[in-house]
Amino acid sequence: MSSPIAEYKVTQRIVGHLIGGERVSGGTRTTPIYNPATGEVAREVQLADQETVERAIAAAAAAYPAWRQTPPVKRARIMFRFKELLEANEDRIVALLTEEHGKVLADARGELRRGIENVEYACGAPELLKGEHNRNAGLNIDSWSEMQPLGVVAGITPFNFPAMVPLWMYPLALVCGNTFVLKPSERDPSSAMLVAELLHEAGLPEGVFNLINGDKEAVDTLLTDSRVQAVSFVGSTPVAEYIYNTAKGKRVQALGGAKNHAIVMPDADIDNAVSALMGAAYGSCGERCMAISVVVAVGDTGDELVDKLAAEVRALKIGPGTDDGNDMGPLVTAAHHEKVKGYVDLGVEEGAELVVDGRGITVASHEDGFFLGGCLFDRVEPGMRIYQDEIFGPVLCVVRVPSLEEAMQLIDDHEFGNGTCIFTRDGETARFFSDHIKVGMVGINVPLPVPVACHSFGGWKRSLFGDLAIYGPDAVRFYTQRKTMSQRWPSSSNRERAKFSFPSND
Ligand code: NAD
Repeated sequence: MSSPIAEYKVTQRIVGHLIGGERVSGGTRTTPIYNPATGEVAREVQLADQETVERAIAAAAAAYPAWRQTPPVKRARIMFRFKELLEANEDRIVALLTEEHGKVLADARGELRRGIENVEYACGAPELLKGEHNRNAGLNIDSWSEMQPLGVVAGITPFNFPAMVPLWMYPLALVCGNTFVLKPSERDPSSAMLVAELLHEAGLPEGVFNLINGDKEAVDTLLTDSRVQAVSFVGSTPVAEYIYNTAKGKRVQALGGAKNHAIVMPDADIDNAVSALMGAAYGSCGERCMAISVVVAVGDTGDELVDKLAAEVRALKIGPGTDDGNDMGPLVTAAHHEKVKGYVDLGVEEGAELVVDGRGITVASHEDGFFLGGCLFDRVEPGMRIYQDEIFGPVLCVVRVPSLEEAMQLIDDHEFGNGTCIFTRDGETARFFSDHIKVGMVGINVPLPVPVACHSFGGWKRSLFGDLAIYGPDAVRFYTQRKTMSQRWPSSSNRERAKFSFPSND
């Protein structure tokens, strides 16, 4: 299947907004979007002002009454067409992702495919929304519950999964009958814009979905406008907490940062654990909220683990994401590169042992790219900032502890609780770990336990502010409100007396 959008304006200089189904301008400020592999400005993005955001909210509010009444099966049919268009345009989307984010093409493809799984889940809207019915809840009284939409809802997304994370939100929000305003990351917004255009090509009515680009000004308008009923946010913990506290009176789910620990038990298959850890720590240059950033070596596993990891880290192939032979591309911006490198400097000052130093690498013909080699620290202590803070780069910290109990205590004491995993061959150990650990997503010999679309994704502690996780069944609850009806049809031939006792089935 080919699409006219296949000839997408990748060369376009300024990325604007999509309001009421039209590409529009709005706001006088712009910010550069870099190609992190070359360090060059690829294009610019407009930063929406308050008036532009209000236009998008107004478009969503105007589209809501008709969309709310559209049968779920018709909403789902648009999602079926959307899925086909996403697949037909996969190469184009993946190329944009790699160009602006830097991740290698195969990783970008994986991101998009996981996003499409959320569209597939949303295609089940008629089943997901059919509600609950109870005949004779009381004598001759029937009772049923419906999930009704909320109205206009907003999504604010991070740079690290520019295609997938928006798809965590709006396919389900839309099939539940809401209209939507998306604010993607201003660092790599073009793939989200292309995907939004495909959604309209799939037949979505104007105004049901709108995309505004911008920064804090745009976000603050979404948070404070009373027409916006709910906000889904994914990003760093300080901003997640700000969103949660500022959007008072709205329904909010705000997913934050992470420091994901992997425990390696003495009985683990060390070679396979090392392979799994390499992908989980250094894939996407460590810019994943589910990346493994701490390895907890239990008992006498430390020396062998560090030796084997070090050899693999030194062998990482680093270069532009467009080259299929590379394992790792650049970091997203020069500022983020400086921040991550600063953490490596800090780790050395704090006294951790820098076993592999990725600072100062250069990539031939890409000398101005934001590349950092893989870094590996051993003998990291819990008091160090490189242990406490989310670094969000290719930096793996090894902590050595004598026992499983101490490994689990470390994880439970950490402020984040997004993901974790254990490598072991012992079922009893694995079951004890998954049963008791205070983390939202747990892997057993699975280093990146990102739930599939029919489950829900959410961390614990300061990795999630709000009560419901994102996508899957929790998202159906998040994007709907329950209404419960009770109905009876008294006979006109029977005169009923007033009853003053509280009605019950006794
Ligand atoms: P970020 O918090 O800087 O930005 C996220 C979004 O918030 C962007 O759209 C940005 O424009 C907006 N924003 C930034 N500062 C703001 C402010 N002061 N006020 C209002 N809005 C603001 O996050 P990022 O750097 O784009 O993404 C990386 C972070 O996201 C990491 O911490 C990572 O762990 C986290 N993340 C979490 C998950 C998860 O599911 N828990 C998934 C992906 C990424």
